[in-house]
Amino acid sequence: MAERLNASCRCGGVKFSIPTDAAGVFCCHCGDCRKAHGNYMAVIGAPRDDVRFEADGTLQWWGYSDTARRGFCSTCGSRLFKDNIGTDLLMVSAGVIDGPTGKVIVKNILTEFKGDWYETPAVHDA
Ligand SMILES: [Zn+2]
Ligand SMILES: [Zn+2]
Repeated sequence: MAERLNASCRCGGVKFSIPTDAAGVFCCHCGDCRKAHGNYMAVIGAPRDDVRFEADGTLQWWGYSDTARRGFCSTCGSRLFKDNIGTDLLMVSAGVIDGPTGKVIVKNILTEFKGDWYETPAVHDA
């Protein structure tokens, strides 16, 4: 496995990498994540200081509360980040990692709000 996981939006306007040992995958089923992602949100928690950008020209942030914002590509619309402001981790959408992640779903969050069209994903040991 490579030392870092490379990630990009659909159009390539945003490219970045995170360390391979970043935590997760975490799945959040809250109504907010469902609106943002069109489904539940699956994210990997990367140390904020160790997210390295190769390109970020089209990265846009939407700050929708004092404590949270979401990062997306303003060209292609890829949902890239959930940022809980003030925490050490930047949550990276698992689906934007290029190639194998070597990760498994380790936790479901706020399942009481999940949609009724799917089963809660199975959880595995990391
Ligand atoms: Zn893009
Ligand atoms: Zn959520």
